[in-house]
Amino acid sequence: EGSWEALYRVVLLGDPGVGKTSLASLFAGKQERDLHEQLGDVYERTLTVDGEDTTLVVMDTWEAERRDESWSQESCLQVGSAYVIVYSIADRGSFESASELRVQLRRTHGADHVPIILVGNKADLARSREVSVEEGRACAVVFDCKFIETSAALQHNVAELFEGVVRQLRLRRRDS
Ligand code: GDP
Repeated sequence: EGSWEALYRVVLLGDPGVGKTSLASLFAGKQERDLHEQLGDVYERTLTVDGEDTTLVVMDTWEAERRDESWSQESCLQVGSAYVIVYSIADRGSFESASELRVQLRRTHGADHVPIILVGNKADLARSREVSVEEGRACAVVFDCKFIETSAALQHNVAELFEGVVRQLRLRRRDS
């Protein structure tokens, strides 16, 4: 396996304010902040999952102010080895946006089986919940993708999210 396959780009998509940057920061870990400032909103880290190392490059480049000229929204939709579509469980509008993003990805990637993970973030905001767990799960079935609820605030399920991304990428590698 060449070094090209060893490195995967994971693009975070979703409405402003749903928690993309918070999830990316937790992925990056605090010690490496200096390095990440130089890299902008692109975070690289090697995860050991099921005894095997995989390097993910997580891109928090969806929103205009976090992009330079090299990352248009169009290119964000094209460069991913995998996509994490984030909504907030306390914001129904962001859940509806997630569906639109899924449609856009299908348009860009066609029949390619690019792993997609639907993420209901802010699971800690139980009293403001506008999207039930069941709705999230049902949506993922329609999307043909994985689903997880996270809380960046409580650091709940964030490691599991990125480990899940790694597992999905490996499954795809074996299929192709
Ligand atoms: P982005 O615009 O999608 O990158 O969202 P940010 O990561 O900047 O988060 C937007 C706001 O939501 C910030 O004030 C975060 O502190 C807050 N936030 C992010 N994740 C969570 C979460 O899991 N729970 C709660 N309660 N707040 C969160």
